[in-house]
Amino acid sequence: MTSLTASHAADLVAALLFILSLAGLSQHRTSRAGVVYGIAGMALALVATAVVAAQSGTARALALIVPAMLLGAVIGLWQARRVEMTQMPELIAVLHSFVGLAAVFVGWNSYLEAETDDRARQALADAGLLGIHHAEVFIGIFIGAVTFTGSIVAYLKLSARINSRPLVLPGKNALNLGALGVFVLLTVWFVISPSLALMIAVTVLALALGWHLVASIGGGDMPVVVSMLNSYSGWAAAAAGFLLDNDLLIVTGALVGSSGAYLSYIMCKAMNRSFLSVIAGGFGIEAPSGGGEEQGEHRETRAEEVAEALAQARSVIITPGYGMAVAQAQHPVAELTRRLRDRGVQVRFGVHPVAGRLPGHMNVLLAEAKVPYDVVLEMDEINDDFADTSVVLVIGANDTVNPAALDDPASPIAGMPVLRVWDAEQVVVFKRSMASGYAGVQNPLFFRENSSMLFGDAKQSVEDILRALGDGPRRADSSRTAGDDGGLATVRR
Ligand code: NDP
Repeated sequence: MTSLTASHAADLVAALLFILSLAGLSQHRTSRAGVVYGIAGMALALVATAVVAAQSGTARALALIVPAMLLGAVIGLWQARRVEMTQMPELIAVLHSFVGLAAVFVGWNSYLEAETDDRARQALADAGLLGIHHAEVFIGIFIGAVTFTGSIVAYLKLSARINSRPLVLPGKNALNLGALGVFVLLTVWFVISPSLALMIAVTVLALALGWHLVASIGGGDMPVVVSMLNSYSGWAAAAAGFLLDNDLLIVTGALVGSSGAYLSYIMCKAMNRSFLSVIAGGFGIEAPSGGGEEQGEHRETRAEEVAEALAQARSVIITPGYGMAVAQAQHPVAELTRRLRDRGVQVRFGVHPVAGRLPGHMNVLLAEAKVPYDVVLEMDEINDDFADTSVVLVIGANDTVNPAALDDPASPIAGMPVLRVWDAEQVVVFKRSMASGYAGVQNPLFFRENSSMLFGDAKQSVEDILRALGDGPRRADSSRTAGDDGGLATVRR
């Protein structure tokens, strides 16, 4: 078998492994296998790339590839070890920006190569592919640059380095549509008469459009933006694959692009948002009114009072949010669940599809703390049960339990389905202050008659409740591992 055939075979196997990986990741039980398939596919792709470079005969190619791979591996391992779960979306946004930047470099490189290498240009011209090549270069640079700056803005918003409120420039929809129109015209011009000036123009245009598209989207819609940029990064990789004539990059880019687009669509449905509006930078969404100002008086409570209410409750629903992840409160929360269930209280969890900072964030934390799957319900499964519930514990959630989404059409999160926690007899909100949630909107829930605030770090508050409940907290520290049988394993009955 020639080296080229072997490398094509390796590409095919790697592509199949990536498809198996996606299929595995779609379910809890098969997700570990999904990760293993993904690692195997990527390892195979890297080895095949290095082997092809080695056999191409140029020592220079190998001398560039091997250090780049080693450097990338060191940075990747270092990041994977130090990143907190709550920082995952930020990390993903940064990684997407790299894909975008790489696609821009590949596009520029292909253009300069065709311009400076007469033989390469002649070969493309002889095959009648010069126009197609120019269109590929332009489209690749455009998608890559939009992904690059869009991902940087997403990173800045997700890491709270800039405000998550939407930027509303006058005529923002016209600006976005105008930029798309100019891109189409520039592409036609470039195919007819390529020039360096047009290359610079499309790069600057796409960088500005990427920045504006994501800056125009409000905090509440950021989950969709992250998955949308995931999709864009896939298409950027596929475009780079066409330019590099690399089948694996085309297949992988198309997989990432289409699965990211589908995830964006699912999230838009879950959040009652128009898919087209969000991917077009909040097209048609007017400047929101309302902000973080307080809307009445709130009532404070203490851990002892909450423990008493829980001890007397018939049924309890816990709605976790981003604050539970920040506080790493999932282990004491799992312990509280076990204790209450031992006392005969019905305890369930209501998980909002965008609670936390990444899809499935709460499910991962609760599974890590060994909360049984069967008491963890999706929003739609539990929303009608709040009315028949004694106590709801809102642990570090805010936007996902905000009644303004249903009651206030002018709210930035208007129309987003939320957990109707206020229907319960009593609601206890665990947080550290009266600060607003990620979308920057105050929450009228805090000022309702049946709500009370338990201020403090969520982990500390739950541990205080455990102490007040009596038997002294069992080991509720975060050192528990997936293989540990203690704690909630005994709850399964
Ligand atoms: P929010 O981000 O709306 O609110 C979290 C709350 O947790 C804050 O009000 C904060 O209040 C509190 N908090 C923070 N730290 C602690 C702590 N140590 N102890 C106790 N409380 C704490 O959370 P939700 O989960 O309800 O909503 C998620 C939001 O994030 C949505 O707007 C969603 O659109 C967005 N988003 C979701 C993504 C996803 O994929 N799931 C991705 C990107 C964004 P205080 O500071 O007063 O303590």
